[in-house]
Amino acid sequence: MKIAIVGGGFTGLSAAYYLQKTGHNSHIFENASYLGGLAAGVKSTLSNPPENWEWDLEQFYHHWFTNDNFVFELGEDIGVTDKFKIKGPRTDVLYDDKMYPLDSPLALLKFPHLSFVERIRTGMTMAKLKYLYNEASSDVFENVTAAEYLQNRSSKDAYEKIWKPLLVGKFGQEYDQVNMRWFWARIYKRTPKLAYYEGGFGAFANDIAEAVRRNNGSIDLNVRVEEIVRCDTCNGFHVKRQGFENTHEEVFDRVIVTTPPQTLQYFYPELPEAYKQSLRKHEGVGAFALVLRLHHQLMPETYWLSINETSWPFLAVVEHTNFMPKDKYGGENILYVGDYVQPDHPNMQKSKEELIADFTPYLKRINPLFSSESIIDSYLFKTNYAQPIPKLNHERHILPLTTPVEGLYLASMAQVYPWDRGTNYAIEMGKEVAGMISN
Ligand SMILES: Cc1cc2nc3c(=O)[nH]c(=O)nc-3n(C[C@H](O)[C@H](O)[C@H](O)COP(=O)(O)OP(=O)(O)OC[C@H]3O[C@@H](n4cnc5c(N)ncnc54)[C@H](O)[C@@H]3O)c2cc1C
Repeated sequence: MKIAIVGGGFTGLSAAYYLQKTGHNSHIFENASYLGGLAAGVKSTLSNPPENWEWDLEQFYHHWFTNDNFVFELGEDIGVTDKFKIKGPRTDVLYDDKMYPLDSPLALLKFPHLSFVERIRTGMTMAKLKYLYNEASSDVFENVTAAEYLQNRSSKDAYEKIWKPLLVGKFGQEYDQVNMRWFWARIYKRTPKLAYYEGGFGAFANDIAEAVRRNNGSIDLNVRVEEIVRCDTCNGFHVKRQGFENTHEEVFDRVIVTTPPQTLQYFYPELPEAYKQSLRKHEGVGAFALVLRLHHQLMPETYWLSINETSWPFLAVVEHTNFMPKDKYGGENILYVGDYVQPDHPNMQKSKEELIADFTPYLKRINPLFSSESIIDSYLFKTNYAQPIPKLNHERHILPLTTPVEGLYLASMAQVYPWDRGTNYAIEMGKEVAGMISN
């Protein structure tokens, strides 16, 4: 079969790879000039990429957990296993201007801002979540909010100091509506060691793309899909692309859409109204990431710092070169400052200069040596859709990969659940949709 895939992120690339493997003929149409979608590299967006960088770097900070098996399976299949780098970097939270490791029940026991009894209760709650539940039994958390569960099971104080700032940081005003099952999955899935790819996630996307091309799949960049039209006489679809004529002469047997779900209603306006409503119902948050190339380290060892202070204007500070070697970036120190916010949030309208000015006093609180002089160069990335918001009984609203139109599939970040969205699940979903088409 001839299959059109809209989007060259990890879902689209994985679908193409597994379709080619089973003898189909896939065509990726990607709007951007590069592959990888939300996990794409910085260099490909710059007219003047840093010459001293041997490796690329994601626009938004990325790593894998060591149990992200779909990633490693695909890596093995395309012969790049030796490119995965595994390390155990330090992850901390910032509370009351001090950094604390809080990533295990044991580390929690040492957190001085809770009473001993609260630490034990919180540590036991975390241990219970990690070891007593699995994917099937976690459905008991479908209709309880994380806010309610965590307050009851640890303590109000522990909730206020540890969990609430993270929920607020990620989901803003919707923080108290997020369900406990999604939260459970975050704890359950986390591994102390993390993985990365030689050259960055964009390099992995390019290696998958090479494998797709080797197997005779085709990938077109800078191609914006505008409409998908069912053609009853030819029993297939036409895929209209901006700037291309004669697309009505080309027929695809199947179409896989991997863009945010809302987009599908514009691609295919004749979808049933009830289905379009469910596409529109899906809620998400956006994100920005300010990338700073620094002359010096900001944090001595910490890779990931979650800001547990709701008064700070960002959620995370990620020092990439405390995870991967800085000689891959010409000896520079690479820092991300990031946050999840709604697209209409004031920080989403600001320039990188404005954000640097706003954030400098806070970065100085982490390291008093930080100043504008510390910065070699900077980049700012924004996306309106970075993370689905999983509210109560979210499972009921997850759309199937099939749509009401036979032969048209939707495989998007919105359908990843209960796991937090990620490239591992994008690859899993690409494989699953390819399997559905092949069988
Ligand atoms: C801040 C942040 C941090 C993250 N951290 C991690 C992490 O540490 N580890 C991890 O594994 N994952 C992480 N993720 C999630 C990960 O990036 C996504 O889950 C994954 O990349 C989704 O892949 P996808 O292919 O489903 O979607 P996308 O990457 O969104 O791909 C969709 C593609 O469709 C293209 N497209 C859209 N419209 C059109 C059109 N009209 N025509 C043609 N093409 C179109 C887009 O350009 C895009 O390339 C993070 C995401 C963010 C935002």
